[in-house]
Order: sequence, then C-alpha cells, then structure tokens
Amino acid sequence: VKVEEKLFQNRYRVDAGRPHIQIKDEELCASECETQQCTVCCPAGCYTLEGNGRVVLITDGCLECGTCRIICNDHRNVAWEYPRGGYGVLFKFG
Ligand code: SF4
Repeated sequence: VKVEEKLFQNRYRVDAGRPHIQIKDEELCASECETQQCTVCCPAGCYTLEGNGRVVLITDGCLECGTCRIICNDHRNVAWEYPRGGYGVLFKFG
C-alpha cells in the first residue's frame, strides 16, 4: 500500500476558527526567511508558498508530526500546540 493510500484512511476533525498551529509573524516569513523549508517538509502540505514569497498555513489535515516546529528553528516563528481534545487527526493503522 502506498503512503498516500494510507494517509487517505486518516480522518480529520477541524476545530473551526481555532487552528492549533499559527505563523506568529507572516511578514517575517516573506522578508527574512530565505529557505521557507516548511513549504517543502510538511508531509501534509499544510504550508504553501505564494508567488509573492508569502507562506500560507492551512492546518486542516495536519498529522501533528512536529516537523514545522523543529524546522523553523532559526526564526521560531511557529506557534505550535496539539489540537483540543476530540479535534485533529484520527489515525487508522493496519
Ligand atoms: Fe505539517 Fe507536521 Fe507541521 Fe502538521 S505538525 S503542519 S503535518 S509539518
């Protein structure tokens, strides 16, 4: 089974209006971050790079892996918390 097919089995409950991860300063992503690695490393593709160099974060589908929190170590521009109970990803194994 391909990893994409496995991921498709996950379920996700969106906590509308209360994203568990936020970019603290969007201006910083555009003006001071040279690599914008979050747009490449997030396995769920939550971060996208806009044409104007801005990074857009949509947390729906986040796998709660913590990669973006670690990778933004230079700027520490990611505010990261686990979703509230009952929200977020529901993994299905097997
Ligand atoms: Fe993407 Fe992982 Fe960060 Fe979620 S925790 S937004 S899946 S890198």
